[in-house]
Amino acid sequence: MGKRKKSSRKPQGPRKRDPLETTFTCLFCHHDKSVTVRMDRKEGIAQLFCKVCDQRFQSKVNHLTEAIDIYSEWIDAADAAERQATGHRPSAASSSRNVPAVSFGSDDE
Ligand SMILES: [Zn+2]
Repeated sequence: MGKRKKSSRKPQGPRKRDPLETTFTCLFCHHDKSVTVRMDRKEGIAQLFCKVCDQRFQSKVNHLTEAIDIYSEWIDAADAAERQATGHRPSAASSSRNVPAVSFGSDDE
């Protein structure tokens, strides 16, 4: 029966990495690789921005910080901001167990 397929696997070479810029998928517009994290270790600042929807975020970095850390910080920050915007902020009152869901009436304009 069989001829065997010649198994030729390409060796995976080292991935090309940009030293200073890393791209991610945007949380807001969901474009792939539209978010760029730019690390400035000398300044100790990282800047993140989406070239599609122009979301921006800035954070501090140290020598251990990776671009992915900035990206996940951004996710956390966006998450927190969204929670605030929708009124789902964690309540400061620790004793209130049964918190009724806040109904959103926008009659206050
Ligand atoms: Zn975007």
